[in-house]
Amino acid sequence: MRYLLAELDPDADAEKAVDRYERRGLDIHESDGFVSVRGYLDSDAGAKLRAALEAIITPAVAGDRDERTAAQKRADALGEICDRALRGGQLPSSGGHKPQIQVTCTLSELRNAGTLTGQAIIDRVGVIDPETLRRIACDCNITRIILGLQGEILDVGRSTRVVPVAIRRAVTVRDMRCSWEGCEMPAEYSDIHHVRHWAFDGETKEPNLALACGHHHTAIHALGDQVETLRRPDGGWTFRKRHGP
Ligand SMILES: [Zn+2]
Ligand SMILES: [Zn+2]
Repeated sequence: MRYLLAELDPDADAEKAVDRYERRGLDIHESDGFVSVRGYLDSDAGAKLRAALEAIITPAVAGDRDERTAAQKRADALGEICDRALRGGQLPSSGGHKPQIQVTCTLSELRNAGTLTGQAIIDRVGVIDPETLRRIACDCNITRIILGLQGEILDVGRSTRVVPVAIRRAVTVRDMRCSWEGCEMPAEYSDIHHVRHWAFDGETKEPNLALACGHHHTAIHALGDQVETLRRPDGGWTFRKRHGP
């Protein structure tokens, strides 16, 4: 139909193309703990987005009970694409820093199991829940800032990695891929998860650590007791969703 209309009235079609191009846009809003994304991409950018999303969304392997909806898979895949772009170091830096997300919280917020929620702040998005905070804290760089009674900054420590390079390497050699049962996501796209969180005195040592891809790392923290954590013979861990009672 589009082809026929273009044949009949080439000028109108050209005008429409300009119109479509001008309508492109992407709005990002924070709303109630979510970030809402709405917009129109031109067909070229749209095709690239589809191709990139499809490349990330792996077909379900036999025995893997992926219960996510198609929309949830796309949402997770978009997060994964951004994660890879940020990790890849190919994005331009801003203010002399590699682009990254920053979360600000107090130590007690990190340790709190959920009674005092809503205090940790993530860059330009707003408040995050304690479990999301702990997931991010599992594998990140930390800068300690000590505030005085009036909120004035008394001391800023150096940014340090939660998981030192040598320990990351050891866990990578042992696990090689995400530790979720059936997941094939390679180590380079996985986080290091603390089975017992360091905020609750878990050690940042091999026996307490496991590789987990972005999607499954989120699942492990978000699903809590619904996830079974099993010790493997090689000293690593296997995670899977608990089924039945
Ligand atoms: Zn974790
Ligand atoms: Zn995974």
